Amino acid sequence: MKIERADCERMDAEDPLAHARARFLIPPSVVYLDGNSLGALPAATPARLGQLVEKEWGTDLIRSWNAHDWIALPQRIGARIAPLIGADSDEVIAADSTSINFFKLAAAAMRLNAPRRTIVSERGNFPTDLYVLQGLRDMLGGAIELRVVAPEEILGALDDTVALLALTHIHYKTGTIHDMQVLTQAAHAVGAFTLWDLSHSAGAVELFLDRHEADLAIGCGYKYLNGGPGAPGFLYAARRHQPLLRQPLSGWMGHAAPFDFGDDYRPADGMARTLCGTPAVLAMAALAEGVATFDQIAMSDVRRKSKALGDLMLALLEARCPEAGFEVACPRDAGKRGSQIALRHPKGYEIVQALISRGVIGDFRAPDILRFGVAPLYTRYIDIWSAVEQLAGVIADEDWRRERFRERTAVT
Ligand SMILES: *Cc1c(COP(=O)(O)O)cnc(C)c1O
Repeated sequence: MKIERADCERMDAEDPLAHARARFLIPPSVVYLDGNSLGALPAATPARLGQLVEKEWGTDLIRSWNAHDWIALPQRIGARIAPLIGADSDEVIAADSTSINFFKLAAAAMRLNAPRRTIVSERGNFPTDLYVLQGLRDMLGGAIELRVVAPEEILGALDDTVALLALTHIHYKTGTIHDMQVLTQAAHAVGAFTLWDLSHSAGAVELFLDRHEADLAIGCGYKYLNGGPGAPGFLYAARRHQPLLRQPLSGWMGHAAPFDFGDDYRPADGMARTLCGTPAVLAMAALAEGVATFDQIAMSDVRRKSKALGDLMLALLEARCPEAGFEVACPRDAGKRGSQIALRHPKGYEIVQALISRGVIGDFRAPDILRFGVAPLYTRYIDIWSAVEQLAGVIADEDWRRERFRERTAVT
């Protein structure tokens, strides 16, 4: 059946999440399909940051650590993220960057599961995860074996030497979802723990960390959680692991009594022991507003809409640019696909640049992937329609051949 523009308008009219778009400030001339890289600006964030700077910092000064409870921001925000990922409020804490949190929990896992020394991960995983594991191995004088295998070899790579299975739940390029339940069970069957990178999952798909008996996880605050550029990330540790969890960045904020100023480290109870230093209060406040955009929103609705937006985009691409030479790089089955559409094209970079100049913002991942993230809180069906219209225009007019779309910028 042919999909018309009016069909997309009707889908928006019937969308139970349509009201959530007003929680964001999105330029009217832009079709924003890059919420998987940088979530849009929540409408409440500018005023909140203004108030924080002028009143809490400017007027109340250092008293704000107590008066405005700045000190508990990591726990408070963690508790708000918890229901989005299927965890209890005392199993999640916000802090530091995703990369740093990954280091802390990978190191902690090796200690939890000593004397095992093997970490299994996936070839083509997000680079920071692999680089951090390599750094951890080198720091320990090579005492860790990294077994980095193709996705279809993961199950076969698990044996009783494996301490940790460290995977990104949804692949950053292809949007392919790993089966958290199956892989966690397989890891547990050989006595290994799991560490999930939820950067492309939190706020995008339904997650059941507790129910699936995940051990450890980390995730990103500035993608689907809308926390702002470089926002702090979060950490999860199943309650059963918390008492024995020890991480190497044992800074004072993870101490049981930081303001006793003792000489010897003693980890705090619970997730606080995963903290290192003083929270970045400005960034934390922005993250809190980002997470608050999910207030009263059911992740099951988010997921339903995410699948529908992706299916719509694939159907429109097939109908409107069948000859453009795109190869679908994401799963066609919405159940196996995260909240993004990924296409392969040898001129991917140039096409994305040409699209951006037409107001449709997606992004490019080398060597040849075009990514279009759908963020169900603010992406409309009509946006998908417009994006494919413009994409068809770029192809038909051969816009992408223009010299200026060939220049590579520092950030793609
Ligand atoms: C975005 C992303 C990160 C980001 O890490 P930073 O420390 O915030 O730069 C990590 N892992 C994955 C899988 C990501 O997609």
